[in-house]
Amino acid sequence: GDRLIGVLNLADKSNGTNFTEADLNLVQSFTKHAVQMVDRAATLEKAGKFELLAITDPLTGLYNRRFLEDRLQGELSRSERQQQSFCIILADLDNFKVYNDICGHLAGDEALRKAADLMRRSARDMDVVTRYGGEEFCLVLPGTSKTESVFVGERIRRAIEAESFPGESHLPLGRLTTSIGIATFPADGVTADELVHAADLALYQAKALGRNRLVLYEPSLENKVLLSHKS
Ligand code: GH3
Ligand code: MG
Ligand code: MG
Repeated sequence: GDRLIGVLNLADKSNGTNFTEADLNLVQSFTKHAVQMVDRAATLEKAGKFELLAITDPLTGLYNRRFLEDRLQGELSRSERQQQSFCIILADLDNFKVYNDICGHLAGDEALRKAADLMRRSARDMDVVTRYGGEEFCLVLPGTSKTESVFVGERIRRAIEAESFPGESHLPLGRLTTSIGIATFPADGVTADELVHAADLALYQAKALGRNRLVLYEPSLENKVLLSHKS
């Protein structure tokens, strides 16, 4: 067509003579095919990049919520078919509004990046780490029991507690920390909504108990949270 996608540079013919009209024709018939191949490769690469961009959170490089929703559905059907359990972890940074107010939004962004990195490193290879929104993260732990999920959750909680974040000493807890709620399939829910709701209640309870802690969902939380909403 009329798009420039590359330049082919030929110089110094091997036998030392000038290039001829015949050489040009030969090169042109070769480039017709080459152009098609280069163009196709570029299109494929672009499509792959767009696909990746569409499921990536630009700030942290983690998977985004769209990807989480897909993966959760996949995990639900797989776990049901194979009669396996899996867990989701909701992690929410504590007093992050205060951190932003004290240190500024840019430092807040940097802290989010750092926290995301710690989550990625604290999770296992098979775990899916996503940014759920704002300062909330959601992890999917395939083939994992409630007991095993506590190891992962605690590793994340401790990693963030131990990491130093500039300016964190002014926070209410003296450190930038995270609260965590965990729900397990199928015990605590059998749909994505039910599981997220359960993990959210557990997270809410972790906040209510003083933050920087991990709470596992249990049915009695439904009443507790209702009560605390009323009061
Ligand atoms: P809690 O311990 O109860 O979770 O308190 P919190 O202050 O963390 O919760 P709240 O929901 O009141 O505030 C969340 C804050 O997270 C507010 C918002 O400014 C900040 N935040 C959300 N997304 C971003 C972001 O992308 N960058 C920055 N810097 N801050 C963000
Ligand atoms: Mg939040
Ligand atoms: Mg928060």
